[in-house]
Order: sequence, then structure tokens, then C-alpha cells
Amino acid sequence: MINNQKTKTPMPIQDAKLRIKNFDEVALGYTLEQAQNEALRCLSCKNSPCTSACPVGVNIKDFIAFIKQGDFEKAYHEIAKTNCLPAVCGRVCPQETQCESKCVCGIKGQPVAIGRLERFVADWYAQHEHNLKAPLSTKQKIAVVGSGPSGLACAGDLAKLGYKVTVFEALHTLGGVLVYGIPHFRLPKEIVFKEVENLKKLGVEFCCDVVVGKTLDVDELKNDGFSAIYLATGAGLPKFMNIKGEHLSGVYSANEYLTRINLMKAYQPTSTTPILKGKKVCVVGGGNVAMDAARSALRMGSEVHVVYRRSEKELPARKEEIEHGKEEGLIFDFLTNPIEVLEKDGFVRGLKCVKMQLGAPDQSGRRRPEVIENSQFIIDCDLVIMALGTSPNPLLKTNTPNLETDKWGCIVVDENLQTSIENVYAGGDATTGSATVILAMSQGKKAAKSINEKLSK
Ligand code: FAD
Ligand code: SF4
Repeated sequence: MINNQKTKTPMPIQDAKLRIKNFDEVALGYTLEQAQNEALRCLSCKNSPCTSACPVGVNIKDFIAFIKQGDFEKAYHEIAKTNCLPAVCGRVCPQETQCESKCVCGIKGQPVAIGRLERFVADWYAQHEHNLKAPLSTKQKIAVVGSGPSGLACAGDLAKLGYKVTVFEALHTLGGVLVYGIPHFRLPKEIVFKEVENLKKLGVEFCCDVVVGKTLDVDELKNDGFSAIYLATGAGLPKFMNIKGEHLSGVYSANEYLTRINLMKAYQPTSTTPILKGKKVCVVGGGNVAMDAARSALRMGSEVHVVYRRSEKELPARKEEIEHGKEEGLIFDFLTNPIEVLEKDGFVRGLKCVKMQLGAPDQSGRRRPEVIENSQFIIDCDLVIMALGTSPNPLLKTNTPNLETDKWGCIVVDENLQTSIENVYAGGDATTGSATVILAMSQGKKAAKSINEKLSK
């Protein structure tokens, strides 16, 4: 049976007026009936173009077929063959530019809501008890550094292959950006912790509060008997604009602001985490990180302006997040670029900006923003959040001199993801710079494959 509906089955969401007063999840997830209704839109195309557009190659046609049959257990196992974090990916993957962009239904209507269905299956599975059997760990010891999606994906695949895997994490909590960066209202932390629990059941061990390169170094790990090491340390170093006034109290990087809110729970009324709230906040940038910081600031009770130097068309954030942000009351100042943070008694009192216009396309293919002369103006505000991207933290490189990095500080790897050091591999944001969850995962999986091939020789 096929459902000829041209549009996606709508996702139930929290009302905008209510949700800006809480940090609960915005999208509530499909009911069983909604999921099956949406699954019936899938045409089960023979060549599954959607699967070829998924960075980890989830067998989409088959998992959706199991939803149609009402066999959600089998649907989960079909996804889990290639994706160890489906509840996360179903929520935060940019499906519109990946699997859904190739869905045949998208030609004459909207594509099948593949991400929403993936989330439905993963949530259904999490709500039911399962006896996961740990595979026998008979092979060598492997160290994974960093517990973000890349490290978790690598650890999961290696554990399934029978390796004894230990994940070393600098923070006191596991999950990387999934926990300290992406806010609760988009990705509840219990979802990530549940996925981590599944890895523990597979036999993966986790050591928190260990900064590799400081607490212990790569040579010590090798001397401790780890046959291979996977570096998945992410890109946690924020970029700034280098404009006057960026040192003032009331200027945060998005990373710091979000870490205080998410990891250190500053959003909870009983929290003792210090955070400046701001009556009027300017968030500079237009990516997912900017949207997360801006929508968090709204929930902290501020009026929020998103200051972006290009136009709405070029906004790199996910469309759904932009729409949700607009519904919640974000004010967008497009074609606007800050040139100075203004001060009063050591604190922020405003953001001096210039107006921009779009010129010819630059190397990225996007039209280059150019300053309009004599267009200076001031946005009154008492908090500025810089969301301009991140690069890898240089600490690991500083204490591992023979680890080759490029001019952006990214770890250099060969086609098998091996670094300049024998049996030391790297992937995720640490090698690519800030990217996406699914790309970081796909590299973790690739590294697991390379490590297994090397150690099996
Ligand atoms: P991370 O997730 O950064 O994990 C690295 C881990 O390594 C961290 O836990 C860190 O503490 C640890 N670490 C670092 N150095 C050391 C060390 N020396 N020793 C031990 N541990 C160390 N992507 C999407 O696909 N969709 C989204 O909607 C999305 N939204 C985002 C929102 C925000 C606010 C941010 C910041 C990013 C977002 N991204 C999104 C990007 C995505 O989260 C990252 O691309 C992804 O998390 C990278 O995974 P990773 O495992 O390489 O690194
Ligand atoms: Fe189903 Fe769309 Fe994939 Fe075809 S392309 S198998 S219709 S999800």
C-alpha cells in the first residue's frame, strides 16, 4: 500500500509561546500512527538514491519497510547495522541536504521524512527493554580519545569486532558537542546518555577527566599496551573577530555560553553556574551554533538579535532551526557586520556595525559581502555572543610534537585516517574542522575499519 500524500506528515511540536519559557524538546516525535502514515509514502525505490546520500549508508528503504509492517525492532536493527547513534542523527542530521535531498518523492512534493522516521524507530527501541550481549573482547586494546560522535562510532565498531576499547574524555561528562554544545531543546541529554549506555553494554570502557596531552600523552598510551589510538578530539577552540572591545565582560564565545547553559545547567533556576543574562543580546553568526546560542538566550529571557553579514538566503543553519527561531521571536539583522563592541564601565553597552551588500561569488561559491561606505550604526545591547566557528584545540599538538597538523591546526591524516604517527589515527572535527555529527561518525567508522585491517595483518 502506498500513501500518495505529497507533503511530509507534520511533526508535533511544542507551541512557540510555551517553549520559549522552557528548555524541553521542541519537536515531540511521531506517534506510531503518524510514523506508519509517513512510512507508507516511501516508494521502496530499487536503487535507493536516499541511501547513497547518507554518509554512513543506512539502508533506508528496508528500515522504512519494517515500519510499514509494524516491526520496529527489525527496523532498529536495520539502522543500527551502520548507525550507532540513530536517536541523535534522527534529531540533528541535516537530512534535507543528505538522504532526503535525493528522495524521489521530493521531485513532485516533499521527500519522505527519513530523519523523523529514524528518530521514531530509535525512540521506540529506547522505550523497550533489550538484552544486549557484549561480544567477546579477545583482540588488542585500543584507545579512543574524545567521546563525541566520532569517538563513540569508532569505539562501537571496534567493540563489535572484539577489541577491548577504552575511551578517554577530558570533560566529566561523555558525548562531546552532543552534550556540551547542542541544547536540550533540540537534543535531550538522556538520549545521548542512553546511546553511551548501549556502548557500555558492548564492553566499551570510559575514563572521564583525562586530558590526553596533559594528564597522559600518546606515548604513555602506547606504553600502556594500546595497539592503536584514535584521536577524535573535535574542534572546540572558538574563533573571534579580533575587533575592539571583544575582551569586555558580556562578550562570550557561543561555546562558552552554551557550555555554561548545557553542561553546567545554568538554565535551571537552582543552578549556581554564573552566567550573564542580558536584556538585549546580539549573536554574531548564522550557522547551527548561532541558532542554538540565540534560541538559548531567548529562553534565558533576553531579546535576541542574530547579526549576520550575508542575506537570509546564505544562512548556513538548518532551515527547520531558522523557522523555529523565527516563530520563537528571534530578530534577524541581515547584511550587518560588527566592527566594535562598545563599553560602559568594563561591560558591553552596544555593538557598532556596518551595513553590507553582496558582491561577486567568493571561493565558497557564496556572494562575497562588501561594506557599504558611511553605513555605521549602533545596536544597543548588553551581551554579545560570537558564533563564528571553531578550530581544533592546539593542546594535543603542543604535547605531541611529531603529530602533523595543517595551518588551521587540523590533524593531517592519510586515506586510511592514519596520522603522521604509526598506529595513531584521527578523524571527525579534529581533522576536518567544524562539520557535522554524521560526517564525524562516518570517519569514526572508517578509522575502526582501518585499525582492524592493520591489526589483522
Ligand atoms: P566533539 O563532538 O567535539 O567531541 C570531541 C570530544 O573530545 C569532546 O568531548 C572533548 O571534550 C574531547 N577532547 C578534546 N580534547 C581532548 C583531549 N586532549 N583528551 C581527551 N578528550 C579530549 N552537527 C550536526 O550534524 N547537526 C547539528 O544540528 C549540529 N549542531 C551543532 C551545534 C553546536 C552548538 C555545535 C558546537 C556543533 C553542532 N554540530 C552539528 C556539529 C557537530 O556537533 C560536530 O561536527 C560533531 O560533534 C563533531 O564530532 P567529534 O566527535 O569530531 O568532536
Ligand atoms: Fe523511499 Fe525516498 Fe528512499 Fe525512494 S528515495 S526508497 S521513496 S525514502
